[in-house]
Amino acid sequence: MIQRIRLQPEAIGVGMTSQRARDRLIERLRGHGIVDERVLNAIRTVPRHLFIDEALATRAYEDTALPIGHGQTISQPWVVARMTEALFADGVQPRRVLEIGTGSGYQAAILGALGLEVFTVERIGELLRVARKRFRSLGLNVRSKHDDGRIGWPEEAPFDGILVTAGAPALVDALTAQLAPGGVLVAPVGMGGAQSLLRLRKDSDGNVVQDVLANVAFVPLLSGMID
Ligand code: SAH
Repeated sequence: MIQRIRLQPEAIGVGMTSQRARDRLIERLRGHGIVDERVLNAIRTVPRHLFIDEALATRAYEDTALPIGHGQTISQPWVVARMTEALFADGVQPRRVLEIGTGSGYQAAILGALGLEVFTVERIGELLRVARKRFRSLGLNVRSKHDDGRIGWPEEAPFDGILVTAGAPALVDALTAQLAPGGVLVAPVGMGGAQSLLRLRKDSDGNVVQDVLANVAFVPLLSGMID
């Protein structure tokens, strides 16, 4: 069930940001193997052009990562779709989901549109302030904190799903530990901007099953916080 989101006039879009441009993106994602209709619907509904600088808005519905300032990027729609879909695979029905690396807020908004209870952590204060305005204006219920996401959000754990949207040399143990039994963690792991997107599922006995979803290139997961 897609949560109703508040769409002000600028969210409707014209030309390169119109519904037609968005529908073309959905067809492209389908062509590249995205099959979960809930996820495709969320991507159709959330106005990606409001999550990037106006100067880049005409490129919002291309299947590409785009700069969002501070050396960071909004992820490629296919990657957002693949990570989101992976949370629901094998009949998993997540309710509470943690994202590390809020960035523009787009991935969190997709999770919110899917009716999930969303928690997101960002280390760059300025990016988080802008993302929070977007959540408010779209009427999305997303809880966020300014922190080093490598510690997760222990006070709110456990989570049914955890998405890490920045690359690290290895899985972060503190995050795996905050996964509920039956929960799924998706994270890019590897060195030097070339990573494997890993999906890890914790079964009800606490055993872990891991597989590789794709090769990806995320910005690095860094330590500490900045304003
Ligand atoms: N999910 C984002 C993609 C953001 S790019 C979106 O949909 O737009 C990765 C983000 O992770 C950047 O904003 C970066 O500042 C943040 N990041 C990197 N290391 C982090 C850490 N240790 N804790 C929290 N956020 C981190």
